[in-house]
Amino acid sequence: MPLSDRALEDVLIVGAGPAGLACAATLLEASDVHVTVVDAGAGPGGQYWRQPAPTADPHGVRPEALRGLHHDLDTFESLRARLEAGRSAGRATLLTDHHVWTVVADGGTFTVHAVDRTGGPGRDRAVEIRARHLVIATGAHDRSLPFPGWDLPGVMTAGGLQALLKSGDVTAGRRVALGGTGPFLLPVAAGLAARGATVVGVFEANSPRRWLRELGPVAANVAKLGEGIGYAAILLRHRVPVRARTMIVEAHGRDRVEAISVVRLDTAGRPTTEAPRRIEVDAVGVGWGFSPQLDLPVTLGCALDPDAVGTSVVRVDDWQRTSRPGIFAAGEACGVGGAALAVAEGHLTAYGIVHELTGSVPEAAATLRRTMARLHAFASAMHRAHPIPAGWAEALREDTVVCRCEEVTAGTVRRAISDRGAPDARQVKQLTRAGMGWCQGRVCGHAVELLSGAAPAAPPERLVSTPVPLGVLADDWDDFGAM
Ligand SMILES: Cc1cc2nc3c(=O)[nH]c(=O)nc-3n(C[C@H](O)[C@H](O)[C@H](O)COP(=O)(O)OP(=O)(O)OC[C@H]3O[C@@H](n4cnc5c(N)ncnc54)[C@H](O)[C@@H]3O)c2cc1C
Repeated sequence: MPLSDRALEDVLIVGAGPAGLACAATLLEASDVHVTVVDAGAGPGGQYWRQPAPTADPHGVRPEALRGLHHDLDTFESLRARLEAGRSAGRATLLTDHHVWTVVADGGTFTVHAVDRTGGPGRDRAVEIRARHLVIATGAHDRSLPFPGWDLPGVMTAGGLQALLKSGDVTAGRRVALGGTGPFLLPVAAGLAARGATVVGVFEANSPRRWLRELGPVAANVAKLGEGIGYAAILLRHRVPVRARTMIVEAHGRDRVEAISVVRLDTAGRPTTEAPRRIEVDAVGVGWGFSPQLDLPVTLGCALDPDAVGTSVVRVDDWQRTSRPGIFAAGEACGVGGAALAVAEGHLTAYGIVHELTGSVPEAAATLRRTMARLHAFASAMHRAHPIPAGWAEALREDTVVCRCEEVTAGTVRRAISDRGAPDARQVKQLTRAGMGWCQGRVCGHAVELLSGAAPAAPPERLVSTPVPLGVLADDWDDFGAM
C-alpha cells in the first residue's frame, strides 16, 4: 500500500543502518505491524555497509566490485532480503534519500518531517509521516579536532575517506596518511591500500599497551581480536607503517595538502620535543572516534546518559525503550560500539515493540541481552584504550581556525576562556560565535568543549537536524504555524 494511503503508520524507523535494518527485519517476522524505514542515504546499509548509489550507467560503480571492503556482508544481505520480502508483502516501506529534519510528538503519536531529496539538487520536497511508534537508529558521526592546515582541501575525516571508497570506489589520494585514534583507522587504511593507494602511515595517538588493562573484555570478544589481526595482516602485506603514540600536528600546502608533520607523544599524551617528521602526502584522514547522532532524541526530550568516558548517549531500558513513551532507540545513538552491537540492539528493539504491543517475552531477548553486555564491555574498553591525548591542543596556533563555519580561531576561543572567563563551550559560543554556523557545532563542538576544560555538557538542542530549504519549510508551515 503506498504511504499516502495510510493515515497512521504502525512503526517508523529513522535510519537504515545495521540497527534500523535489524529492527525492521525482526519486526516484520515477529509481528504483523507495518514498518516504514526512512534513511537520508541513497540506499540501506548505514555507515558500515555503505554501498554505491544505484546507477543505470554501465560504467558506474557496482557493489560487487567493492565486496572486499566489507565485513559480514552476509548479515547485510539477509537483513535487506527480509526487508524486501516485507515490501513485496505490502508490509514495509523503505524511503531512501529522505532526511528527517524534525519529529513532533503529539498526543501519543509522532509526526515525522522529512526532506525528500529523490528529485535531485534544488528539487527538495516536504514529506510528513505520522506513526504510533518511533525507532531512532540514526548512528553516529565522525569526531574531528582542529590542527594547523586541517581546513586545506585533501584533509578529511577518516570516515569521509572511507565513505568515498565504499560509495564510489574513490581513493581520495595516491599517498594517504591516517591519524587520530581508534581501531577504525585500520579498516580505512586496509581498504585504501587494497584499492591501490599508498598509505604512508597510520599515526595512532595512543599506545597499544593501553589494551593490556582490558584483557577481560578482549578475552570475551576474541572475534574482535581476530578482526584486528586480519587488518594488521593486510597492512603488513601492503607495507603500511603503523606508528603508535604519534600524532599528525600540521598539514602543509598552498592550494591543497602536500605534506604533513607528525610528532611522537610522551606517555602523558603530550608532544615530545623531538623534531616533527615531514611526510609528503596528497590526502589525509583524521578521526578521533565517533559522536552519537542525537539531534532527534534531544529535540524529543529523551533522557541521555554518559557512556564509559562521559559521552552522551540515549538512555534505554532493557527493551530499548527511551524515557519517552512510544520512542525506542537502537545502535550507535545509544553508544558507539560497532556494527555487531548495533544489529543486536536492532533485533532487541523489535522484540521490545512486540512486547509493548502484546506483552509477550520472546525467548531470543535474553540471548540478545547477553551478547549486548559482552559487546558493550568491549566498546567501553575501546573508549578507555583510545582517549583523546591530553596534549592534542598544543599543536593549535593562534590563527588555527577552530569553527570553520564562522571562521573562529583558536586564539579567539582561548581569549574567550582566559580573558573573558567563559567557563564552558556554551559561553564560548555566545562570546565568539563558534558553533553558530551552518553545521551548528557538529564539527567544532567537541573541540571547543575540550578547549574550555569543562566537564562534558549535554548536547545542545538542534531543532533542525539537517539544513532545510525555505520552500520545504513553507510546505510544512500549516503544521508549525498551528503549534
Ligand atoms: C563515517 C563512518 C564510517 C564508519 N565505518 C565503519 C567501518 O568501516 N567499520 C566499523 O566497524 N564501523 C564503522 N563505523 C562505525 C559504524 O557506524 C557502526 O558500527 C555501525 O554502522 C552502526 O550502525 P547504526 O545502525 O547504529 O548506525 P549507522 O550505520 O550510522 O546508520 C545510521 C543511518 O541513519 C541515517 N540517518 C541518520 N540521521 C538521519 C536522519 N535525521 N534522517 C534520516 N536518516 C538518518 C544515516 O543515513 C544512516 O544510514 C563507521 C562510522 C562512521 C560515522
